[in-house]
Amino acid sequence: MDDEPDLAEPLLLGWLASVHLDAHYTRAEGDHLYRLDEQGREVAVVDFAGGYGSTLLGHNHPEIVALARDLLANGVPVHAQFSRHPYARDLASALNRVLRREHGDDEPYSVIFANSGAEAIEAAVKHAELDRVLKVGALRESIAANVEAARAAVADGTAVADGDFEALAARVDEVNAERAATRPVLFALEGGFHGKLVGSVQLTHNAAYRNPFGALGVTTRFVAKDDLASLPKLFDEERVDLLDLEVRDGRVVPVPRPLPVFCAFAVEPVQGEGGIRVLDERSARLIRTACDEVDCPVLVDEVQSGMGRTGTFLASSAVGLRGDYYALAKSLGGGVAKTAVMLARASRYRGEFELVHSSTFAKDAFSTTIALKVLELLEADGGALYRRATERGERITAALRAVREEFPDVVVDVRGRGLMLGLEFADQSGSAHAAIREHNAGGTLGYAIAGLLLRRHRVRTFPTASAPNTLRFEPSVFIGDAEVDQLAEGLRDAAAVLRAADGEALLGS
Ligand code: PMP
Repeated sequence: MDDEPDLAEPLLLGWLASVHLDAHYTRAEGDHLYRLDEQGREVAVVDFAGGYGSTLLGHNHPEIVALARDLLANGVPVHAQFSRHPYARDLASALNRVLRREHGDDEPYSVIFANSGAEAIEAAVKHAELDRVLKVGALRESIAANVEAARAAVADGTAVADGDFEALAARVDEVNAERAATRPVLFALEGGFHGKLVGSVQLTHNAAYRNPFGALGVTTRFVAKDDLASLPKLFDEERVDLLDLEVRDGRVVPVPRPLPVFCAFAVEPVQGEGGIRVLDERSARLIRTACDEVDCPVLVDEVQSGMGRTGTFLASSAVGLRGDYYALAKSLGGGVAKTAVMLARASRYRGEFELVHSSTFAKDAFSTTIALKVLELLEADGGALYRRATERGERITAALRAVREEFPDVVVDVRGRGLMLGLEFADQSGSAHAAIREHNAGGTLGYAIAGLLLRRHRVRTFPTASAPNTLRFEPSVFIGDAEVDQLAEGLRDAAAVLRAADGEALLGS
């Protein structure tokens, strides 16, 4: 009813309307979303936002839709918790085949199923924490056994303690009880985005998303990419030792044992929301080496970059970054199913996790069968779609670079890999137009530009969440040349409008 209040996020809608982004799409196909004009005719909008990375195969890919229809028509058991899940097993095997190829070795990864990217990240963090807690328990048990052995040695006279042994043992107990309760430490890269749930938002660098909820989650230490060489020093600052007792040459001596305090280091191989920033090989190596040194698992967030978007199944493979955990979501569901997975490498995997973690819809036959189909399509013809992602990415990059060359004063950078690309507009704080300066200062300039692109060019894109002057381009592997040209034309128009400080044209009427 039109006279009823809008209770479905009206504030957001009002804000979208203010920059002409409040379109209502009625149909989606391939790289297009369709809305109706005043006469009720369909207007095609080319979609470079791509569900922010979910539509690598385009909207409503015919084979995915046909499969979804078939599954539903045949009464697929969507809800069958606590039963055999052969489709989930097949998906896990298929994922492992791809990982084996990209890693060049046989170490398997166990799969935990989830429904969204943030949930997969939280499952990985939870698993890492379970592993850490179990390791703390094992360390304390081994210390207790060593204290017992020292006690026996003192009792039978084969060892002596400095002072009273029982006083020493009591101190070890007291110190360890206190130190073992040290909160786990999470690390993440500055600019990173890992979700907005209670746990994952604490790994997301954007302070506006994270700060109000700080009291609910574990604190994360954020590391600037330029500071990665000092990671060992940062780890050292967090180091906590438990006390152990050893018998050496007939004496009972206290020895430090490092407490496992490091829960995980989260990293995106290509930062999406942080402004499309590709992790370089050196940074990847610095993270891996420093984390290995202190047994901190690396959680590689491939929620946006994975599934072949950057030309390899995992974007991290291209920079030689090996993850202890991976999170995959978005395009895993073929643009249709809501599904996600967390992969945990065998050397860290704890089967106990399966007994304490689950979610109602996760691992259901509908979404896992669709995900399996997505993998099949990606892997077909010797990986033709990965090559296509690279080739299409190069075509779009060339178009974006040409815009940059024409407008070097307005466009400061073009970056990314494959079909995860960004174009950064120059800071507009010196614009002659007050409204442009205001949008620039408020972090909404990218949305105003997106509004112009939609209104005047029927191009849909958005800025990245935490780098508001950077527009993102994440179309499907099937994006055509004509659509790329449409984008380039729109960007030229936007750049010309900014160059002319034409606030009226930018914001429309
Ligand atoms: N990680 C990354 C890298 C993402 O880009 C996103 C979503 N933008 C998430 C996690 C969270 O995924 P979801 O929105 O499905 O929870």
